[in-house]
Amino acid sequence: MKYLAEKAWIGDRIEHDVLIEIADGRFTRVQSGARNDEATRLGGVVLPGLSNAHSHAFHRALRGRTHGERGSFWTWRELMYRVAERLDPDGYFRLARAVFGEMALAGITCVGEFHYLHHQPGGRSYDDPNAMGHAVIEAAREAGIRITLLDALYLTSSVDGKPVHGVQRRFSDGSWPAWRERVALLKPGDGVRVGAAYHSVRAVPEDVLEPLDGPVHIHLSEQRAENEACLAVHGCTPTELLRRCGLLGPETTVVHATHLTDSDVAALRGTGVCLCPTTERDLADGIGPARALRRSPLSLGSDSQSVIDLFAEAEALEMHERLATERRGHFAPAELIAAATNHAALGWDDAGRIAVGRRADLVAVRTDSVRTAGAEAEQVIYAARAADVTDVVVDGRHIVSGGRHTGFDVAQALREVIP
Ligand SMILES: [Zn+2]
Repeated sequence: MKYLAEKAWIGDRIEHDVLIEIADGRFTRVQSGARNDEATRLGGVVLPGLSNAHSHAFHRALRGRTHGERGSFWTWRELMYRVAERLDPDGYFRLARAVFGEMALAGITCVGEFHYLHHQPGGRSYDDPNAMGHAVIEAAREAGIRITLLDALYLTSSVDGKPVHGVQRRFSDGSWPAWRERVALLKPGDGVRVGAAYHSVRAVPEDVLEPLDGPVHIHLSEQRAENEACLAVHGCTPTELLRRCGLLGPETTVVHATHLTDSDVAALRGTGVCLCPTTERDLADGIGPARALRRSPLSLGSDSQSVIDLFAEAEALEMHERLATERRGHFAPAELIAAATNHAALGWDDAGRIAVGRRADLVAVRTDSVRTAGAEAEQVIYAARAADVTDVVVDGRHIVSGGRHTGFDVAQALREVIP
């Protein structure tokens, strides 16, 4: 397959008339200043595939339905639990397929699904103990995007070790060995990786928090209440607890990292940090110290799916910092694009750049829409929205063309599953 991109993001800058050749799902040639009449032309700006490093697919069912009352993260969580209560593997598959289709349309070529809804209501295993995980993996396959299933350990309902209750029984395997045994049955495959997650210091006791092979993700300090409980029980911040357990380092990605002390920020140096700014504002979490975390590899996530748009996430990263500091210009566009294309956070070190040998992911963004007309190509990340994505290639497969998914009607799939 050959594409000719009018403008493409190569390395950390825009190049013109870039001939891109693909074989067996990898880039085999990337040449600027080329001419080629046989190649499929991609207009606008072509970016590397976007990586959605933190997602809970089923939260999409809550979009536009939680704003009728006041409240906090904790009242929103009650609404989320009501959705979690009623999903079965088939319903989960149909919902996740539609949501991953929406991600594909937004230029997301890989999703990190932070998966904790494992068991039947009441907590009993399904006949296939990974029925829910397999439903999510199959949904990503049908939507045409790669997935890292981050299977989450969830054992307690509070930092001081209270047992799970209500719908949380569906999340818990009962013990660390039972969780490992079940996760070992999940098999990686073409476009599928299996990673691990510790839900949070609320849901995982200190004595089982330990490093694992491969990427590990964990929610961290999204809420002040979590920090206060951790201080009361462990005498330290959640970040310090992770450090004590040997969990900080390049294999780990902490999610949110909103309420940190200066020493937390220093301790997180070199540990991945996934920020989810549109969720953090939707849930009134607060504004995290994104710029102070510059020595941590940053990634972005759509998390609660209040928006599925990594352009909006990247822009919000900068804009929230402006509101917090009353100054402009904290992140260069190249840094925002690096965060939005951080596939390494999901264990895919060979994706996220348009370069020979890498996985052939491309995202074409139109520059002639009402949103993007007139924007400089270098600053398109600030002007574009998911709706400006016209074409998406994942591992060499053209899954979005002319702004439409080639496999199914995504809007209809969403309407059917969230009536
Ligand atoms: Zn989350």
